[in-house]
Amino acid sequence: MADSKDSTNHNPSHSQRARGTIAYINTSHIKHNLNVFKQLHAGKIIAVVKADAYGHGITHVVPALSDCDAFAVATIEEALELRGLDANKKILLLEGVFNSSEMEAAIENEIDVVIHQDYQIRLLETVDLSADIDVWLKVDSGMNRLGFRPEELDLKLAELKAISSIQTIRLMAHFASSEVAIDSQTKDQIICNKKLKSLGYEYSFSNTCGVLNGLTEHDEWARVGLGLFGVSQLGNDETGFGLKPAMRLTAKVIATKFINAGSHVGYGGHFVAKNDMRIAVLGIGYADGYPWSEYSSFVRLDGIRLPIIGRVSMDMMTIDVSVFKQNLTGKEVTIWGDDVPIEAVANDLNLIPYALVCGIKNRVKLNAIQ
Ligand SMILES: *Cc1c(COP(=O)(O)O)cnc(C)c1O
Repeated sequence: MADSKDSTNHNPSHSQRARGTIAYINTSHIKHNLNVFKQLHAGKIIAVVKADAYGHGITHVVPALSDCDAFAVATIEEALELRGLDANKKILLLEGVFNSSEMEAAIENEIDVVIHQDYQIRLLETVDLSADIDVWLKVDSGMNRLGFRPEELDLKLAELKAISSIQTIRLMAHFASSEVAIDSQTKDQIICNKKLKSLGYEYSFSNTCGVLNGLTEHDEWARVGLGLFGVSQLGNDETGFGLKPAMRLTAKVIATKFINAGSHVGYGGHFVAKNDMRIAVLGIGYADGYPWSEYSSFVRLDGIRLPIIGRVSMDMMTIDVSVFKQNLTGKEVTIWGDDVPIEAVANDLNLIPYALVCGIKNRVKLNAIQ
């Protein structure tokens, strides 16, 4: 059966047709979310904007975060780009530097470095320091990723204090499971944090869920990433923090067709139509950042929830639009954000929302809106 309705062109603005795979970035929502965290946390807020601001586009995001106390990123390249966008604010380099030229670039551009390995202390001792630098000594409080063990701390602090160009030393630790109700690992980490606190330095312990779950010390520098984009692993609706999703990912219907009961859809033919149905092809696939998965989620068109059927392919995916009778070609579909909570999509796909937002690829246009 041909879908003759859609194959004729009803749209007069023919020349304006486009694939139109767009992520709308709502900068007022980002501002709002920062304010939510400022209400929740009395201490300073470090806005974590690594990985191109979690896929939201650093150039759109940085102006919306002008009320934060500092920024944090993962790599020196990210830090230098950020310094170009904000000349003054404190910037924290979460993995620190890997060689002397990176250390020199950090010093020259007033970027704070995290120190988690001996070679980074040796770099500070040997590099020709033209200006003062602030460092954050990372302590492994039980996650077993980056950081010195608590028992090494006295020695490392002594080594850092002997370096005259270090202006301020602060301490840093990181929770492994801040998104779950306090378990024994988190309890141990909190005990470690309290000990660090007693040493008399400023410190930074908590990420987004650390703040939302009340694991923070009231005067710490909280490091908030995902929550600024209105996403949280706690799920916003239930917890009522009032965070607003910053990204609405959209794609357009590029084709529709009617298929008969028994027809297979997509690579591998995994989806088999139970009844005659109408399907639509969207111009978004895993090369745009919608992950391939054995599991399936949903999208919304005009507010109506529509299941994704068959496997997501590189450039396209297919949805069930049997409930619609009208021409759909060129219609915008919400992939996530707005009335498609990204937390729900992540849950359906057995992924985490971090991986979804950070997976957005270059060919998706990022359009800032207010
Ligand atoms: C990415 C990162 C954060 C931010 O975590 P969110 O859960 O996104 O708030 C905080 N601290 C460190 C060390 C990180 O790597």
